[in-house]
Amino acid sequence: AGEYGTERPGRVAAHFGRSLEVESVEGDQIRLHRCHLRATLEGLVTGDQVIWRQANDDSGVVVARGERHSVLERPDVHGQMRPVAANIDQILIVVAVEPEPHPNLIDRYLVAAESTGIPPVLVLNKSDLLPEEGGELRAMLTRYGELGYPLIEASARGEQGLETLWTQLAGRTSVFVGQSGVGKSSLIDRLLPDETLRIGALSTDTRKGKHTTTTARLYPLPLETAVDGERRGDLIDSPGIREFGLWHLDERELAEGFIEFRPYLGRCRFRDCRHRQEPGCALLDAVERGEIHSQRFASFQRIRDDIAAS
Ligand code: GDP
Ligand code: ZN
Repeated sequence: AGEYGTERPGRVAAHFGRSLEVESVEGDQIRLHRCHLRATLEGLVTGDQVIWRQANDDSGVVVARGERHSVLERPDVHGQMRPVAANIDQILIVVAVEPEPHPNLIDRYLVAAESTGIPPVLVLNKSDLLPEEGGELRAMLTRYGELGYPLIEASARGEQGLETLWTQLAGRTSVFVGQSGVGKSSLIDRLLPDETLRIGALSTDTRKGKHTTTTARLYPLPLETAVDGERRGDLIDSPGIREFGLWHLDERELAEGFIEFRPYLGRCRFRDCRHRQEPGCALLDAVERGEIHSQRFASFQRIRDDIAAS
């Protein structure tokens, strides 16, 4: 590579050790540049905003990293939490009519999302399989809507909800999470244009190393997702990210992760109240008065017991 050009903004689209793919938007075009890291930089992850310089060919060098407004972490082999992606604007928690979600599972995802500070959105996929009247599942999900979580009913098989999904994805960086079989791949296939999938496939061919399958990748969404001259939307995806929320939860963060519990926390008679049978427990009283749904409270207890047992 020859001389380095002027400094330009970009975003990490994928990383393989000290070798990165940097996405740069040039007019309507999104281009990928293979870059290496300046020696003083480390720990960059997919989604990081960077400053890079282009060499004479298409490659370049990353010289700086921007501030992160959010980080998604997951445990490494030693159980140490490590960042895997940065600057995510929303977590789309996908559930489906089939396999039917246990309310406890949705709560786990929501608590995990709340602990990152990244806003979650609930997506009910396979709505084509919903019974006419919506059934218990829709009733259960409506409760989450009442808590303030956006809820989108969609179908990767049909057209339902796709328009609403587009609107939700516009101008934001999103990840899809959810248990296996709910239709994440199917939804992503519907959303990403062929061109984007080709970029992903092309760079897959040129990847080196054997741990690359778990590396998160940034996929640009079509131009239509750029509203009023805003940045278009994009997705960050990897097998590891899809499993988000299924690992160890911190008991301290658990109660905070139930957003409707927050006004009551710290208001129990006993400072070390464990919200089980204690007199003057603000949470138990709120359940009693119907201000906290008993099923959410039961879910909280259940997840806490699981944590204690693990
Ligand atoms: P993932 O494991 O979450 O990525 O799920 P997949 O995308 O692999 O989908 C699992 C199964 O559900 C596949 O057989 C899909 O064809 C099916 N599927 C996905 N989306 C829908 C949908 O909207 N409606 C119906 N009826 N089936 C779907
Ligand atoms: Zn209490």
